[in-house]
Amino acid sequence: MTCRGSPYSTKISDLQTDPYYLQRWEEHMTYATINPFTGELIKEFPNATDAEVTEAIESAHQAFLSWRNTSFANKAEILNRAAALLRDSKRRYAELLTLEMGKVIGEAEAEVELSAQILEYYAEHAERLLAPQKLPVADPAEGEALLVNEPLGVLLAIEPWNFPYYQIARILAPQLSAGNTLLLKHASNVPQCAAAFESLMRDAGLPQGAFQNLYATRDQVEQIINSPKVHGVALTGSEGAGAVIASQAGKALKKSTLELGGSDAFIVLEDAELEKTIDWAVFGRHWNAGQVCVSSKRMILVEAIYDKFMEGYTKGVAALKAGDPMDPNTTLAPLSSQGAADEVKQKIREAVEHGATATEVGPKVPEQGAFVQPTILTNVTPDNPAYYWEFFGPVSMILKAKDEQEAIAIANDSPFGLGGSVFTADEQRGLAVAKQVSTGMMFVNHPTMAKADLPFGGIRRSGYGRELIDLGLKEFVNHKLINVVDINAPF
Ligand code: NAP
Repeated sequence: MTCRGSPYSTKISDLQTDPYYLQRWEEHMTYATINPFTGELIKEFPNATDAEVTEAIESAHQAFLSWRNTSFANKAEILNRAAALLRDSKRRYAELLTLEMGKVIGEAEAEVELSAQILEYYAEHAERLLAPQKLPVADPAEGEALLVNEPLGVLLAIEPWNFPYYQIARILAPQLSAGNTLLLKHASNVPQCAAAFESLMRDAGLPQGAFQNLYATRDQVEQIINSPKVHGVALTGSEGAGAVIASQAGKALKKSTLELGGSDAFIVLEDAELEKTIDWAVFGRHWNAGQVCVSSKRMILVEAIYDKFMEGYTKGVAALKAGDPMDPNTTLAPLSSQGAADEVKQKIREAVEHGATATEVGPKVPEQGAFVQPTILTNVTPDNPAYYWEFFGPVSMILKAKDEQEAIAIANDSPFGLGGSVFTADEQRGLAVAKQVSTGMMFVNHPTMAKADLPFGGIRRSGYGRELIDLGLKEFVNHKLINVVDINAPF
């Protein structure tokens, strides 16, 4: 099997023969709610018909024609109302997350809150961020040059299951603010979360057609991308999906943004405050059961603190409590599906076959549910392909560095470039290290932050483009120049 995290696994020609990808291709044709804690199939949802897809594109286009001219005050009112509705029923929305993809209920509630904050961020700031900009021109004969931001039209959002609402909010709030309309193809294991967000926006007063959830097949996704009425596609997901969607968008000459995987470094320098750093490391690697693109997947420890860190970290990981994600005492959730758990276990086996040492940590995880035993991987060397993989589960890769410079070099030896962090008592030193690590996001003395007012995105195989703040807002607008020249200017 070729692992998805491998830097060598994502040429489209490879994907067509990659058994893992083909298996998922088959598996994921059906939209279904399967509780990852009990394994119970709760409900299946039929794929969209081709006629429904065609109709949805047309209705999104019709909605765009009036939405683009809707006042910003009206748009902001709808976004604010959606945020309020989310908060009013926080528990109900959160329970759906836990049911469909297994995250612990406290984290699910936090995701609902974050999604509300993103909606509010754009209600408050988008008008200002989109305001026309007067360009400073050198020669008065150039006239008055204005850069205006105009919406493009219908967009397609393809989203993953690990943050089912947050991922929608990240693209929906800015793009509706910009005047675009959206079709959503969500992950096939969170169909109810997708439908719940569509209803939420309808209840908030969004006009019919402006945001539609489709249980689209892969052929239909391609059909949507090829439609002349669709003007861009934003995907968050794996490298494999990114390679396919970017190539389809490229062939159709459409703009795309890709938010893909990562293997973020968590660098610990010798002057770090170890106790707190260890707490952050345990959290950074295990929240959302380790299924976060910006999880702290590679702990890079300088020699001086290696043993002490490892002792505390192992204890911290062993103290995690695996169990029912609805139980507020649970701190380690099952993975999102049995398939996801099997994939992580298979990757651990392969890492070991190539020379790594895998140490299982803590009490045995429950037999029932898509659990993976927390595992610490040591002795992973650059000649082991696993050194370059993303482990999407509770697996910590531990790497030892002689000193700060070697830690930076190890951090940069990755096909990915999403996030990362550095821990040190000296903030200036942390800043200097952060500047030398080549990723889209770096944090000093914090593993990562997902906030409504911070940008999100990466470089290299972690994708391109940014979501959130003005950067996300402007990914799918026409930055149009309007130049007004004085009628009396000489010819
Ligand atoms: P995935 O398999 O790529 O799925 C993501 C989405 O893409 C799903 O909706 C999926 O639909 C769809 N998809 C996959 N292949 C497709 C194709 N050929 N045509 C059309 N749609 C396709 O990703 P995953 O494994 O579920 O999610 C985890 C990955 O996402 C990790 O690598 C993680 O790091 C990354 N991620 C990145 C970010 C970020 O912001 N950078 C955030 C979260 C997650 P189906 O469910 O129907 O397959």
